[in-house]
Amino acid sequence: MTEKSLGAGLYIHIPFCQRKCPYCAFYSVPVSGRSMDRFADALLREIDLYKITTPPETVYIGGGSPTCLPNETLIRLAHSLKQRFGSVEEFTVECNPAQANAELLEGLRASGVNRISIGAQSFDADELKVLGRLHDPGQIQTAVQSAQCAGFENIGLDLIFGLPDSNLMAWQNTLEKAMTLDVQHVSAYSLTIEKGTPFEKAVQQGSLTMIDEALERTMYELACVQFEKAGFGHYEISNFARPGFQCRHNLRYWKNRSVIGIGPASAGWYQGKRTTNVRDIDAYLTHIEAGRFARDEEQTPDLEQIAIETAVLNLRMRQGIDLAAYKQLTGFDLDELFGEAIQKNCDFGFLETTETHVYLTDLGLSFADTVAADFTSPD
Ligand code: SF4
Repeated sequence: MTEKSLGAGLYIHIPFCQRKCPYCAFYSVPVSGRSMDRFADALLREIDLYKITTPPETVYIGGGSPTCLPNETLIRLAHSLKQRFGSVEEFTVECNPAQANAELLEGLRASGVNRISIGAQSFDADELKVLGRLHDPGQIQTAVQSAQCAGFENIGLDLIFGLPDSNLMAWQNTLEKAMTLDVQHVSAYSLTIEKGTPFEKAVQQGSLTMIDEALERTMYELACVQFEKAGFGHYEISNFARPGFQCRHNLRYWKNRSVIGIGPASAGWYQGKRTTNVRDIDAYLTHIEAGRFARDEEQTPDLEQIAIETAVLNLRMRQGIDLAAYKQLTGFDLDELFGEAIQKNCDFGFLETTETHVYLTDLGLSFADTVAADFTSPD
């Protein structure tokens, strides 16, 4: 059975936000002055261009802020996907806490959406201000409760740590609040300073001071301990889930399985091609409304590139690289390509090997980028 016949993942990028956050490099623009119905129609037309015959295993509507769309538009989009594909095993919509409302959440649930990912980021009001977020901590709790009332039993929270001027007590407070909310999944990413963002400029000018690496590492380790204590399995470097609630869509990325990218600036990996759509809404609409794909780039990676990418992505998962699955997907024995890198990182205590897997140790988790760098060129 080919991957296509198993059903790919479907990622739909909604490139709108109410206001741009100063740390964010995702492609998104303000909502004002555009026809959102026209935009949603274009997304559906792009999906139809793929002539998908096997329903996707997962659908993920992300952004940007999907909840920037009017309630009826976002619900119509979800409903149209349900009409096309029936019920999808995991159908996620990202939700901004300031925009979650009962009518929207109930409409999404009735349209086949079964997972909500809430962009909480922090439970500290001052940190949310630093991040330029429009919500307050109380709205995160309200959003989770509204999703629960609407019937969602799979709710995730996104958190960010390592913020400028942050401290361990504020992070501990965020972790505790997150765990009192009865959610099933948490992602905890450290803040990275992205090129071209106001945060980058502020750091260069000295008006924003990042915390030191040792404190950031301590924050990460604290999150790992606290979430595991609360019953969340640590299944990927930055992701934690209650049993049975790992994010299947994101697992597709880490397993290097196919995902079709829909919408401006979205990236896809499908039928042996890596694609990126144009990063411009008007150009996107022009292409799609003329009945053609809106590609900015298209590459066909060779087998060795696929083998490298797969190793680096697989290593992000706590289970690591499954040697048999790796061979099946790439055609290579891992040891043949990366014997030296594996040995070196085992000697450092960053990797461990068994007969079936190669995976990061607890120590290796904090040095994952260094380990991954050793896997970017074969022996
Ligand atoms: S809401 Fe999310 S996607 Fe939009 S600007 Fe802020 S961080 Fe970026």
